Amino acid sequence: MPDFIFWTVYVFVIGLCIGSFLNVVVLRGLTGESIVLPPSHCTKCNHKLAWYDNIPVISYLFLLGKCRYCHEKISIQYPLVELFTGFTFAGIFYKFAKMGFSLNVLFLMIAAALFIVIAVTDIKERVILTVHTYILAVLGLIYNFFNFANANNTKIHFFVLGFDISIYQAFVYSILGLIAGFAVMNGVALLCKAITKKDCFGDGDAYILGALGAFFGIVNVIVISILSVVIWGVLCVPAFIYKLFKAKEFKLLSSIILFSIAAVLFALGEYFNVFDSNLFHWFAYLLVACIGLYCCKLLISSIKNGSNLTVIPFGPALIFAAFFVMFVLF
Ligand SMILES: [Zn+2]
Repeated sequence: MPDFIFWTVYVFVIGLCIGSFLNVVVLRGLTGESIVLPPSHCTKCNHKLAWYDNIPVISYLFLLGKCRYCHEKISIQYPLVELFTGFTFAGIFYKFAKMGFSLNVLFLMIAAALFIVIAVTDIKERVILTVHTYILAVLGLIYNFFNFANANNTKIHFFVLGFDISIYQAFVYSILGLIAGFAVMNGVALLCKAITKKDCFGDGDAYILGALGAFFGIVNVIVISILSVVIWGVLCVPAFIYKLFKAKEFKLLSSIILFSIAAVLFALGEYFNVFDSNLFHWFAYLLVACIGLYCCKLLISSIKNGSNLTVIPFGPALIFAAFFVMFVLF
């Protein structure tokens, strides 16, 4: 066991270095520079960085978050992505490599690296580069074609022109997941556009959900769809309330707060069984639903009137849900 802990720490350090590379992938993906060719340089003064300026996390701490040459601030994104990648890789190794390092572990790590690149690019510049999602989709198809996850080894037989073709069930799920993820997200985006007459989601979100479907399969992509909405909601509410407050939209703000209080009271009432009569129960239910619908009405008219209050990227929520599936359901 101490051996295994040692290797987990070792993978953590490797993860830090990969994270450092992922920062470069994000940055150069956005500027269109090659990933390998120009050596590392400061984004502000373009000074070439020495090896000791490039040690993950440590250089940032040592330089107190400033460029050695021009003393410009270095974004906190760099050490955060490095640390996050380190912990993610160590987590994958700890959870999946107990039986030894396998192709499954390698594929999960590459997928996690892509998740991080997609999420950071989206958070940083609100764009999703389709190339990242294409790579993830192809990776997912290969992963399931060879059934590296080994979760279920069932093979499905197809009889085509007298030939017996057998394919892993995982691969069939992967193709269905790719189609379903892409279709569901596009469907939701079209629906939202029909209601609000505005683009609520970027095109990239459909590519992300499709690629996640290819990797995790049709069953898990449904879980990811539902979970990401919940995560998005939880992340959005504080940001949303803050924005409403700043924009002085007190009508919408007060109705949302009223709805939240009513919903929490209702849930508590359900939990502690305070509704002794059925009539009272339905009345409370109706009241919460009405306030909720009223909020939706205000929200839709606010979006129609051109407010940008609801624009909070959905991609990171999808990625968050994907990590959940990887660590909890896999
Ligand atoms: Zn500099």
